Amino acid sequence: PRCYGSAPPELREKTLVLAKPDAVQRRLVGNIIQRFERRGFRLVAMKLLQVDQGLVDRHYQELRHKPFYPALVTYMTSGPVVAMVWEGYNVVRSTRAMVGDTDSVGTIRGDLSVHISRNVVHASDSVETAQREIGFWFQRDELVDWESRDRDHTYGP
Ligand code: UDP
Repeated sequence: PRCYGSAPPELREKTLVLAKPDAVQRRLVGNIIQRFERRGFRLVAMKLLQVDQGLVDRHYQELRHKPFYPALVTYMTSGPVVAMVWEGYNVVRSTRAMVGDTDSVGTIRGDLSVHISRNVVHASDSVETAQREIGFWFQRDELVDWESRDRDHTYGP
């Protein structure tokens, strides 16, 4: 049998998705995860963590001089975040399209949020950014390579 380890590199593209503190507080994490599962992407890492300012500074380093940055730090450290790594074909671009904008109905932000400063999710904006961001949020050994075997799990051994 073909094991997932032999999947071609274009199926191994990865992106970082964060369910931000408002998503956790508003119990939207399941809805967000479900959208990525249904699309066909593979979850390869996930954890809930309380973020400190150091991690926000690293993650949003290019925004440090923006006027909204202090408010962004307060928001991102206001409660736990669920960090995930999703994998699959064109996952970075597809995920950005799924995340969308607060004013685009049918996207995660458009369906679940109304204000730009409380926009429920983060998703990496390029393959290079994704690699860097995954490194900020996860250790190498926290990424799990697994194979879908739904028949075994439906019918048992
Ligand atoms: N943000 C904000 N006010 C703004 C612009 C951005 O509070 O005027 C926050 C918002 O949470 C956004 C994050 O800063 O998701 C990062 O901004 P960026 O422009 O990188 O947008 P994104 O890549 O998240 O769509």
